[in-house]
Amino acid sequence: MPDLSYLPPLREIIERHQLRTRKALGQHFLCDLNLTRSIAEAAGDLSGCTVIEVGPGPGGLTRALVESNALHVVAVEKDPRFIDALAGLVAVSEGRLDLISGDALRTDFLKLAPAPRAVVANLPYNVGTELLIGWLRDIDQYRSLTLMLQAEVVDRLAAGPHNKIYGRLSVIVQFCCNVERKLDVPASAFSPPPKVDSAVVRLTPRRNRPADVSFAQIEKVTAAAFGQRRKMLRSSLKPLGGEELLKRANIDPTLRAENLTLAEFETLARLA
Ligand code: SAM
Repeated sequence: MPDLSYLPPLREIIERHQLRTRKALGQHFLCDLNLTRSIAEAAGDLSGCTVIEVGPGPGGLTRALVESNALHVVAVEKDPRFIDALAGLVAVSEGRLDLISGDALRTDFLKLAPAPRAVVANLPYNVGTELLIGWLRDIDQYRSLTLMLQAEVVDRLAAGPHNKIYGRLSVIVQFCCNVERKLDVPASAFSPPPKVDSAVVRLTPRRNRPADVSFAQIEKVTAAAFGQRRKMLRSSLKPLGGEELLKRANIDPTLRAENLTLAEFETLARLA
């Protein structure tokens, strides 16, 4: 296990490299190493895994990952200033850390990291959902995704029917994964503090997913149903067959998207 105890405190690294935060890159840093250790622990057993981190920033979470039982860590950072700032951590990581300078949205994670792989990241909020959808598309290629997101987004991921925050993302995520809310992190834990609180969620591939329903089918039905969430399904699902489709699925056409369970969305996806 590499000894990271000689590394300077994160705040010193931020000052020494004059890392003024860039809002456009969602830069809010965690400087409490006990907290970053708790986030790494929330990922569960990482043994044998290559861990992908998006946006290491000054490296608080990265340190915890290098100290974890993961086999290897690959961190992708868009802001080149942090590549210099993280050189000290790379140097003491005994080859356990690769830093990639680049945009995570343009990264082929399956090529970047061999299986078994897991994602652990305090995501830049402006691209968090887009990254998440990309990982969900290939969810069976990941052991787990442990993500810090806005608390309100985590609430949506975990929401069930008959709830106004239950939406397209809830259904898509729950179709792919088991959702566990792991940790609440107040805005005050970040430097600078964002406007909203955050939470860590752990997503693991759902083993009993129906084999005859594809991600693309679920995307299609949820897009139509939640695209007009205030309308009755017989109207919002018209492009996919409307009343006829709902009849075959044995679903009341006067219901709205937020009333349907995951199993009902799966039935619709199968038939649409
Ligand atoms: N992991 C660090 C921590 O917990 O203190 C920093 C987290 S900060 C919320 C998000 C990080 O993602 C920043 O370092 C930012 O520069 C980086 N970032 C933003 N957009 C990115 C992108 N498209 N690809 C890779 N990194 C990105």
